[in-house]
Amino acid sequence: MGKVFLVGAGPGDPELLTVRALRLLQKADFVLHDALVSAEILELVSRRARVIDIGKRSGTKLLTQGEINSLLIRYAAEAETVVRLKGGDPSIFGRAGEEIEALAEAGIPFEIVPGITSALASAAAAGISLTDRRFASSVVFTTAHRHSEAGAVAWKQLVASGATLAIYMPASDPGELCASLYEAGLQPGTPCTVVSRAGRVDQRVLSTELSRLERNCNLPAPALLIVGECARPLHSFAHVDVEEVIAIEKNRTEHVKQAN
Ligand code: SAH
Repeated sequence: MGKVFLVGAGPGDPELLTVRALRLLQKADFVLHDALVSAEILELVSRRARVIDIGKRSGTKLLTQGEINSLLIRYAAEAETVVRLKGGDPSIFGRAGEEIEALAEAGIPFEIVPGITSALASAAAAGISLTDRRFASSVVFTTAHRHSEAGAVAWKQLVASGATLAIYMPASDPGELCASLYEAGLQPGTPCTVVSRAGRVDQRVLSTELSRLERNCNLPAPALLIVGECARPLHSFAHVDVEEVIAIEKNRTEHVKQAN
């Protein structure tokens, strides 16, 4: 019987893979990956491995978590090394829990190989310290995704804690998120930084404040939002202003309209 490795692929740049992840990609028999895993990383997979894109729709439907669990169990019965490759780190908003449970129930050995989660890649891209001791003594990885089974995010408690907020899946409507943050006690002038496609060639960093983010911000997905005093840049590299992003978006929309 084989072993299943839940491997973090990091944010996208192959230089940010762990050596262990790279070795496993080179010896894998099966690699099942999410849509978030970059093409550059998939190029490192052994040529003899069977690579299955489980982030891809078959027809109109994505594989369910139950179907993914069944595939992992089936492949582990057939081969020695099965890699379940996930963007960032498998244990952060990566559904590793459900897969670990299914593997354990089926008696299949597994191992987690950590990856650089996008909050850390985003902070690095933006050149900010998430726990700058002058401003925050904790950082919280949370999500604005409303369909979390664990229930609504307790914004009030998080804001009251003074932690830097690293918000995954910040949603397409920043207005709604900002409203929740204001209701929880944050001021419109609170610094925030959005990092889009961190660790990829087309990464973008936007530092602004909540009141301006709220107006419009459509940075290309995947994007992560860092909120709090630590998100205020202490330097000026790689940043674009929110007005510039709005202008880019407008041009793009007009371009699309013309093309049609
Ligand atoms: N396991 C992943 C997170 C999966 S949830 C990790 O540890 O990073 C998907 C969310 O992660 C996206 O909506 C986005 O908020 C964030 N994300 C993933 N890749 C990203 C990237 N390259 N840059 C910025 N945010 C990213």
